[in-house]
Amino acid sequence: MLQYLVINLDDVSTSYCHYEINCGSPNLIGLDKLQKGICFAMKENLSVQVVYPDYLIPKEYKEAIDAVDHYDIVSSLCEDKELREHADITILHDCIALDKYPFDNKKTYVLRITIHDFLDRYLFIKHVLHEAGRLNIIFTDIENFCDEDIQKYNEALSVLSSTIEDCYDKGRFVQLNLLTDRLTLATMRNCNAGVDSVTLAPDGNFYICPAFYYANEDEDYGLGKSKTNVGDLENGLNIKNARLYTLENAHLCSLCDAYHCQRCVWLNRKLTYEVNTPSHEQCVMAHLERNQTKDLMKRLRNKGFCFDQKIKDINYLDPFVIRREW
Ligand code: SF4
Repeated sequence: MLQYLVINLDDVSTSYCHYEINCGSPNLIGLDKLQKGICFAMKENLSVQVVYPDYLIPKEYKEAIDAVDHYDIVSSLCEDKELREHADITILHDCIALDKYPFDNKKTYVLRITIHDFLDRYLFIKHVLHEAGRLNIIFTDIENFCDEDIQKYNEALSVLSSTIEDCYDKGRFVQLNLLTDRLTLATMRNCNAGVDSVTLAPDGNFYICPAFYYANEDEDYGLGKSKTNVGDLENGLNIKNARLYTLENAHLCSLCDAYHCQRCVWLNRKLTYEVNTPSHEQCVMAHLERNQTKDLMKRLRNKGFCFDQKIKDINYLDPFVIRREW
């Protein structure tokens, strides 16, 4: 059931996920469209998440947004100091100067990073784990992850898992999406764009998520253009083949127990041409994280921490390999 409306205020709003912003110049949503979008969210009882550009938006936009309960998603580079300080989710765009950043131990941060930058510089993240409340690491080029990276990724996760263990020893229950979400999840908790959430873009149309708005107009893959809206403010939502976005219609994912996996439908579409078929890279990374979480859980249990969930031993990293057994 739809629960969230993401409002992407401007073509140059910060990216908070895998997609890149491919628009060079600002294009702020019209105030009337913003107000209609907020009205739509109120009528549909949706929680609003606002994604801001880095420049100061006009006062009347802030007033319109403040008329409804909402979450602010803001870049660490945003010029609006007040917005930056009160952001619910702060987006960090690389590892540079992380050791100088004033983290707040009650707040959530998203670090967008390429896989090879992460593998080269993951030690900087130890500092963040000691200071922040929650860190989500989002890889911006999952397609570049290859089987030769498995060992290095595993080593990096192992180091960060030891840091989390240190934090637990000190009574600081820091969260890192890659390694702590699966400690407590009993069922899938994925991004669920197109099912739990949709996005209102500056053009006044709805999209499955911002990534579909920024998709290249010409990308076709034989399935129709990627940049296809799923409704507009005048006529409401119209998600064609909506069942394809659901977990029940993603055969492998519905049987998988990497419950923390993002199961990104945009990446699926980009890498496998099907929104409900995951890519090898996404599955392998999620299973390395799952397995490291299993080891972390065991070590934390030995220290007296309690977890209801069990994570069993498995002998695969990509469920596609054992699809016939499932
Ligand atoms: S690891 Fe693969 S099969 Fe499992 S939920 Fe993620 S994308 Fe789906």
